[in-house]
Parts: sequence; structure tokens; C-alpha cells
Amino acid sequence: MNTKRKTETVWDVIVIGGGPAGMMAAGRAAERGKSVILLEKNPTLGRKLLITGGGRCNLTNNKPDTRTMLSHYTGSDQFLFSAFAQFTVQDTIAFFNDRGMKTKEEAEGRMFPVSDKAQAVLDVLTRYIKEGGVQVQTSAVVADIAVDVKTKHIRVRLDDATEIVGRSCVVATGGVSRPETGSTGDGFAWLKKLGHTVADTNSSLVPVALKDAWAKKLSGVTLSDIKLTVFQNGKKQGMKKGKVLFTHFGISGPTVLNMSKLIGELIPQGDVGIMLDLFPKIEHDALKKKLQALLIGDSNKKIKNTLDALVPSALVLPLLALAWIDGETANHSVKKEERAKLLLLLKAVPLHVQGLLGADKAIVSSGGVALTEVNFKTMESRVVKNIYIVGDALNIDRPSGGYSLQICWTTGFVAGSHC
Ligand SMILES: Cc1cc2nc3c(=O)[nH]c(=O)nc-3n(C[C@H](O)[C@H](O)[C@H](O)COP(=O)(O)OP(=O)(O)OC[C@H]3O[C@@H](n4cnc5c(N)ncnc54)[C@H](O)[C@@H]3O)c2cc1C
Repeated sequence: MNTKRKTETVWDVIVIGGGPAGMMAAGRAAERGKSVILLEKNPTLGRKLLITGGGRCNLTNNKPDTRTMLSHYTGSDQFLFSAFAQFTVQDTIAFFNDRGMKTKEEAEGRMFPVSDKAQAVLDVLTRYIKEGGVQVQTSAVVADIAVDVKTKHIRVRLDDATEIVGRSCVVATGGVSRPETGSTGDGFAWLKKLGHTVADTNSSLVPVALKDAWAKKLSGVTLSDIKLTVFQNGKKQGMKKGKVLFTHFGISGPTVLNMSKLIGELIPQGDVGIMLDLFPKIEHDALKKKLQALLIGDSNKKIKNTLDALVPSALVLPLLALAWIDGETANHSVKKEERAKLLLLLKAVPLHVQGLLGADKAIVSSGGVALTEVNFKTMESRVVKNIYIVGDALNIDRPSGGYSLQICWTTGFVAGSHC
């Protein structure tokens, strides 16, 4: 009889999910000399990372200090302090710069690779895990995780029934936005089963679909420096300034994405309206003078050929239609009340919300593991020992602008430093 028992390989760390948070955690743990295996269900790593920032990857936001940075994570800041004390925005920038990827700052502190390529970010992470000797297993679909009652090891089962055993396990499976990239919320099911509370995962930063047919025809047009106000029942519900991008279904861009959570909350209560102030920095009277000067300055010209000195040319005919002004009218024949209507419109273009686009178009998903159930000094679960939770899997509200990826770098680094 063969009495020899097959010895099972026990990894120090199993990381599930080859996105930014998982790669950071795996690289950091390997740097500390841990034996690490990284399991990713896609054939390649960082699929979502490659589409971030329109393929340019807005990797963080250059806020001067942690307190200012954390004030942007509404309701989560008190949890995040101990993690950010270990890995800050400046550490992120240094991490990439020191590894040969130069960064640049754009509007509102948004940081990008100088190459404008998300691939550069992925390359740094790929080198980081390779240098540390992380064993990467792609096309490895994790079906479940369980705790070995005797050893307290974590047993990870793949969909082909293979079992991988580790002393600790980092769950970096992301949220539910853009499921085609691999983020299908698998981790939430396992963690729920192990006793975690997972807040409902709704799409959080999503574009807005409009009822206005004219607006959909403006697809591709961007309006900068505008003020967007959200209304319901004639009452102002919220306001943001910035850029709006028209698309074939409605509007998108950072300002819209950052208002989408509010809009989503209002929709069940009734119709939601949006007003765009195209000239937020110019008072009504000053704009009136500007418009008058424009029309008088070229009084024989048609109004449709004049207004593009004021607004993007694609917006001229829709605005004239909304003001019931015939574009063929010569400037000198535009009536006073027509001018008044036009003026009102320049300060308040009305849009009507049809709905929000779903998880398939979301930038991040809200919801995820309750923050009270995670120790942010280590990112270890307070519910199940030896399990660490990082990145989009956590229930952290964040605006667009590099704030999501910073959570991945910080929580990934902290988990990798303690697992
Ligand atoms: C279009 C778009 C643009 C964005 N732009 C920006 C931006 O410019 N700046 C910014 O800060 N944030 C941006 N984000 C958000 C950012 O991409 C996420 O916050 C980030 O990718 C989350 O990283 P993660 O590692 O937690 O999860 P993910 O990147 O979602 O990675 C999770 C990984 O886990 C794998 N996985 C899931 N289930 C299993 C399983 N069962 N077995 C094995 N593997 C599994 C998935 O395949 C995936 O690779 C953007 C998001 C989108 C969709």
C-alpha cells in the first residue's frame, strides 16, 4: 500500500483578479518575499484598466494633501485615513515615475501618463509583478472560496474543480460596471456566503439618456465651462460646473457622470430636468449686451450665420429652433422678444432626462463590501481572517477624476503589505 501523502502547495498569498488593485497587491506582497499566485479569469490582465480615461488612464488626482484628497470620498473618508497613511497620491506618482513612467497633470488635478496610453500603466504593473516572481494564471475562473476549518487556510476552487490553497487571499474582483471586461461581481457572492454584508451594486457614474431628439443629433459636441443644474418639480436639486459631452443617446463627460448618482435617485420620484447655463461666468445683462453687439455689428447677416461667434456652430440651429426663431432672419429683423427668448436659452438650455444608462456603460459601480467589515490598516476582512478586500469590491463612493484608481493603488498596496 502506498502510504505517501501528496503534499499540497500552500501559497503565502492568492490574489483573485488581475485588475489594478489585484496587480498592486500581488506585486507588493511578492516584493516582501511572499510566494504569490495571481488568478485572472480573462486571458490577459488589466482589461478594464486599458479602457480607463478613454484609453489614456487618469491614474490619480494630484491633491496636495491626504485630507483634501479624502474629502472627495463622501462618507468613506474616516475609513480611508489609515490606508492613505501608508500609500498616498504622492506615493502613487512616485511609484510610476520611479519605474520609468512619466506623468502629467491636466485640468482639476487629473494625472495621466505622458504617453497618453493606459498601456504604459499596465506595463509598469506587469513588470512589478514579474520582478517579484508572482505566478500569473490567466483564464483561471474562480468559482468559490472557502476557509479550511482546521488550518484556517483559504481554499480557492476554479471552475474546472482545481483547488488552490493559500495562507491568505486577496479578493480584487472589482465591481459590476462594464461586465465585458470581467467585472461581473463574482467576489460579492463568495464574500456574502462567508458572512459579509454587500451593499446593492448599482451603476454609479453613468451617462444620462435624454428625451430631446435634437440633443442626440449633437453627438460628439463638447461644451466646456458650462453650469449644469438638475431640477425636479421646478426645484433645484444639484449643480456642477465643467464639461458636457453630447452623445448619440444624450449626455456624458465628467460633469454629467458626477451628477448621475443624484439623477438616479431622483428618477423614481418623477421627471428630472437639466438646465445648461452656457455662460455661467457672464451675468444676464452683460450677456444681453454681448448678444446685441453681435447682432448690430453685422445687421444684414442671417442670424443662423452669426450665432456661431457665441456658441459652437452645431448648437446654433437647435438653439434657434428652441427659441422659435427662423435661422434665415436677418439680424436687424430679430424681434425684441425673440432676442429675450434666445438670451434666456443661452443661460438655461432645457434638457429632459429619459434615464440612466446601465452597468454596461458605467465607469464605476456603487455598492460593494461594507467598510465597517474591513480593517483599513491592513485591508483584512473583520469577518473572515486571512481574507483581504481591495479596489472596486469595496463600497466607496467616489467622483470621476482618478479617484477610483487611487483607491486601487492604496488598498492594493496596503493589502500586499500585510497579507
Ligand atoms: C470606461 C471606464 C473608464 C474608467 N476610467 C477611469 C479613470 O480614468 N480613472 C479612474 O480612476 N478610474 C476609472 N475607471 C474605474 C476603474 O477602471 C476601476 O475603479 C478599476 O478598474 C477597479 O479596479 P479593480 O482592480 O478593483 O477591479 P477591475 O479592474 O474590475 O478588475 C477585476 C478583475 O477581476 C477579474 N475577475 C472577476 N471575477 C473573477 C473570477 N471569478 N475569477 C478570476 N478573476 C475574476 C476580472 O476579470 C478583472 O480583471 C473607469 C472605468 C471604466 C469602466
